[in-house]
Amino acid sequence: MSDCLFCKIIAGQIPAAVTYRDEHVLAFKDIQPRAPMHELVTPLRHIATVAEATPADAELLGRMMLVAAKRAGELGYGAGGYRLVMNHGKDAGQTVFHAHLHILAGRPLDWPPG
Ligand code: AMP
Ligand code: ZN
Repeated sequence: MSDCLFCKIIAGQIPAAVTYRDEHVLAFKDIQPRAPMHELVTPLRHIATVAEATPADAELLGRMMLVAAKRAGELGYGAGGYRLVMNHGKDAGQTVFHAHLHILAGRPLDWPPG
């Protein structure tokens, strides 16, 4: 989608601190980190929100989870813990409408989230 911020990051048109990339997903540091580790994992293909995903996207969504766990483990948060969050829609605070998984770690995380 031409006007999508994350599509532009994926295309290299907007810089980002990329931490992982393969043929399916990209991970990069959140520009406004809410925890010592705050990265986003996003599919290379534009999917606006998880609600737009179809059964054909099941493997892709699973890959995003696996990459998130891998990244958190690489940064040493496997034992202590981390949180994976995907916001859908305005009531959940979604601001970028290209689906993405937040990885948050490195501080105590309140439950339930605000
Ligand atoms: P959400 O509110 O779930 O849609 O999350 C969007 C996230 O994207 C927020 O945490 C923003 O800080 C982050 N964000 C917005 N613009 C950029 C950018 N250019 N590079 C990295 N992260 C960004
Ligand atoms: Zn997009």
